[in-house]
Amino acid sequence: MPTSSDGIMVILSSPSGAGKTTLVNLLAKENNFEISISHTTRQPRPKEILNKDYYFVNNDEFKRLIKNQEFLEYAKVFNNYYGTTRTPVIDKLNKGKNVLFDIDWQGADQIKNKKLDYKLITFFILPPSKKILFERLSNRDMKDKLIAEERMKQFERDVLHWINYNYVVINDNLDSCYSKIKNLIEAEVNNGSKDYDPEFIRNHVESLTS
Ligand code: ADP
Ligand code: 5GP
Repeated sequence: MPTSSDGIMVILSSPSGAGKTTLVNLLAKENNFEISISHTTRQPRPKEILNKDYYFVNNDEFKRLIKNQEFLEYAKVFNNYYGTTRTPVIDKLNKGKNVLFDIDWQGADQIKNKKLDYKLITFFILPPSKKILFERLSNRDMKDKLIAEERMKQFERDVLHWINYNYVVINDNLDSCYSKIKNLIEAEVNNGSKDYDPEFIRNHVESLTS
């Protein structure tokens, strides 16, 4: 049975390339924050580390995990499967560790709908502009320009999900975006006052989608 000494769940989602993985890795350096390592059927990128960035598995293994009901959530993203296994997450939360999730809107919806007895805070990360998003995607996926172009198309659809998150944060300067998220988490946990302007966010979304 969850208690007040349990950890909290913090989800970061974003259109691809907005910077959530970078931000999750920064947050994980905080005391008592641990990243939930997902399973995926996608191929590893050159700098990715097996069993640290992801558990890379084939389709059969992923299907086996689905059949055994081992996933807290899973979804198909860009033609590959991604999922979070339940046991490691619940074990960490019960030990008082805060768990960070770098998952898409489908996974965030599934976890939200489970209504687990652990505190959940959800963040949606947005880029400052589409131009900057394309630059970040092109730099990261340098070998394959098609990937950046495909993900830009997906951006138009993904951005619409901002409305279902507790907070939307713009990743312009990395340090200030990180501080903003950290301060909001602290304010949520301690019932403190929150530096958050929903109107500003609404206007920014409009500028990205118009
Ligand atoms: P996501 O996980 O949302 O797909 P990443 O964290 O992989 O995005 O970031 C995409 C690229 O943009 C990476 O190369 C990363 O180093 C870079 N990046 C992230 N945040 C910033 C920032 N604030 N300013 C400049 N580059 C950034
Ligand atoms: P990438 O291939 O760039 O690492 O991730 C692609 C997308 O899949 C990102 O939006 C990322 O947040 C999402 N993702 C990664 N792991 C999971 C997961 O376990 N579940 C879900 N639903 N999405 C995930």
